[in-house]
Amino acid sequence: MASKNVEKSEKDWEKLLTKEQYHVLREKGTEPPFRGKYWNHEEEGVYYCSGCGNPLFKSDTKFKSGTGWPSFYEPIHSNSVKEIEDRSHGMIRTEIVCGKCGGHLGHMFKDGPKPTGCRYCINSISLDFK
Ligand code: FE
Repeated sequence: MASKNVEKSEKDWEKLLTKEQYHVLREKGTEPPFRGKYWNHEEEGVYYCSGCGNPLFKSDTKFKSGTGWPSFYEPIHSNSVKEIEDRSHGMIRTEIVCGKCGGHLGHMFKDGPKPTGCRYCINSISLDFK
């Protein structure tokens, strides 16, 4: 299934997003733990990209990681998100961005639960639950 990529200028994003969303999605910021609206959220549904509406994660792949950020063991589709090597802050990490708009979502670590062993550690502000 081909999905069209969302391409906007940084000026467009500035108008579209709140200041806090812009900081995380476009400037790769991180929200403080235990403060976002979804780290402790347990309703059934789908989490979408708050920048472009791309479906990203299902609630049944969400788990309690204890980190203070919403955590999932796998994305809805393999192309829902993209992985990028992140060498910032003296670490080598896997950055996770939206597969459609490229907005920063969080990072993926290999210490998650079965069946994937992955932990997608995502900023609440990058998500919209429905
Ligand atoms: Fe997006």
